[in-house]
Amino acid sequence: MKKENDAKNLKFKVNEIFKSVQGESSYAGLNCAFVRLSGCNLRCSYCDTQYAYKYGRYLTAGEIIEKVDRLGAHIVELTGGEPLFQKDARLLIDALADYVEGRSALRPNAIAPRLLIETSGSLSIKGINPKAVIIMDIKTPSSGCAGMMEPENLKYIRPVDEIKFVIGDRDDYEYCKKIILDNSLTERCGVLLSAVYGRIKPEKIIGWMLKDCIDARFQLQMHKYVWPADKKGV
Ligand code: SF4
Repeated sequence: MKKENDAKNLKFKVNEIFKSVQGESSYAGLNCAFVRLSGCNLRCSYCDTQYAYKYGRYLTAGEIIEKVDRLGAHIVELTGGEPLFQKDARLLIDALADYVEGRSALRPNAIAPRLLIETSGSLSIKGINPKAVIIMDIKTPSSGCAGMMEPENLKYIRPVDEIKFVIGDRDDYEYCKKIILDNSLTERCGVLLSAVYGRIKPEKIIGWMLKDCIDARFQLQMHKYVWPADKKGV
């Protein structure tokens, strides 16, 4: 009990907590409470959350959970920035996973509550609480960060997890196709392909994917089509 209380009193730098629809995974379109932690070890060329690199205020895990609870969503996503960048992030994940599990017990017949961790793939996912679903990027060349991926991470991906490639041009597509085929990714977990907003026409990626019979899920960054592309907190 003491350990649990200590974790609840740890402080994390939080950029924003808000409710929206989940936009970039097989959970897209569902009511979701987002916890965006501050800080990121990467600088992707297309980053749309640069405002999360530095700004944030310190909240305890308990305060974060209180705010999430007020939002009343059944999907909770820990994102960033890079959510694993802060030293004790795994303790926050444990606390959120317990919270989400508690919600599951309250609504056994509804959409199953889930904790999603949206990570860049540059930091180790080894040993993350197995109750969380990992949605992990593999950065493509046009991001400028392809060389920063943690090579061991693919070992720890489970069928429940999802891997996302954000594609900005044909070279990115060929890069992601090779990784998918070399690692039989579509047989191991969900695979998501998405387009860098404003840089490539989505139909191009869909055409390549269909021609090559890549068994992935194509997706758009939904929030950029629903709200202005630079709007925060969506
Ligand atoms: S990992 Fe995400 S938050 Fe970090 S620079 Fe890349 S797009 Fe931005």
